[in-house]
Amino acid sequence: AAGVPEGADIGSQKDRVVTEEEWLQRWETGNIGFHKKRGHPLLQKYLDVLLNGRSGLRVFFPLCGKAVEMKWLADMGHNVVGVEVSEQALKEFFSEHGLPYCEEPVPEISGAKMFQSTSGNISLYCCSVYDLSSSILGKFDGVWDRGALVAVNPCDRQRYVSLMITLMEKNSSYLLVTVSYDPNKHKGENF
Ligand code: SAH
Repeated sequence: AAGVPEGADIGSQKDRVVTEEEWLQRWETGNIGFHKKRGHPLLQKYLDVLLNGRSGLRVFFPLCGKAVEMKWLADMGHNVVGVEVSEQALKEFFSEHGLPYCEEPVPEISGAKMFQSTSGNISLYCCSVYDLSSSILGKFDGVWDRGALVAVNPCDRQRYVSLMITLMEKNSSYLLVTVSYDPNKHKGENF
């Protein structure tokens, strides 16, 4: 996570912006083709890299949606923290896995809520990722970034990357699922 290279070629996508409102609408209308019901094969493949021999990690899921990988990692004994603007997504996560949860305000962020599994090992913040900081969340041993950096508006990339760096513990590992294509040739759903 060394930042965005100077002059990264994102071509015609440079000024494209997807608003929070548009994301909420996608959830409302069920336009969530990005959601993988069976989880992501690359997390299975690179799990050892993420864990690096450690157990009981704190793992962060930025822009988490209702990613089933959160359940996987919690079941393996890790502590999962996610952030997502859509309350619907978070409620669907808990209900689809039959997990009881409670809802709490987040004193530091007005209007934000935190949904926590009753078992305590999954805490999902309902707010913008940009509202968060290490003083609110603490630091993480690992990050699973799938559908997150690629969903961040290009104009917000630097801010996003700087935040993620502040959330990382010294020896933390960051798994990033990214895509590579010529943005001048393909419109792309991802940035
Ligand atoms: N990582 C998830 C979801 C990817 S789609 C997965 O793998 O399935 C990107 C998600 O980010 C959407 O659910 C969208 O509602 C959410 N989102 C977009 N902008 C956000 C922001 N600024 N803060 C928090 N969540 C955001």
